[in-house]
Amino acid sequence: MVLRRFAAALVAVLALAGVQVVGAEPAAAAARILYYDASQAQEFVAVVNQGAQIWNSRVTNVQLLPVPAGRTPNIRVYADNGWPRTYTSSLGNGYWYMGREAVNDGYYPPRIAAHEFGHILGLPDRRTGLCADLMSGSSAPVSCTNPNPNATEIASVNRLFATSAAVPAREFVFSGF
Ligand SMILES: [Zn+2]
Repeated sequence: MVLRRFAAALVAVLALAGVQVVGAEPAAAAARILYYDASQAQEFVAVVNQGAQIWNSRVTNVQLLPVPAGRTPNIRVYADNGWPRTYTSSLGNGYWYMGREAVNDGYYPPRIAAHEFGHILGLPDRRTGLCADLMSGSSAPVSCTNPNPNATEIASVNRLFATSAAVPAREFVFSGF
């Protein structure tokens, strides 16, 4: 009883000091969680996970996590011999292919994976030809090994998920030519 009263007093003191004790909620709003299923990505499972981690370490309003057993994923990832491509149904939902056509042509697989996740996260293609732009896709040189979104791309994703922006269903193909 004494201990409980002491604990209550301690909580009151900490509350006065502005320390949040109960719940330990972060100050920022919780990131939206998107579950992805890479189980059908064949030899690209590791690179799919890498693409997700690239985004997770840079954006705050959304996080890409491997889907737990028994749960329906937001995102499915496949692999085939075509071009990498993404089919979105809405912001944060859809599926994409890791296409061997681009991998065999020498495009950097982690850049492809992060790029295709970028479409799921609401970003369109922007064929600037610049390696510094993740969403420039195949318009950047084949030698480009930058797998990271730039500051503008990061800010766009955070803004889209902050407002749960409506994004139309679309298809994006890595090759624009
Ligand atoms: Zn694209």
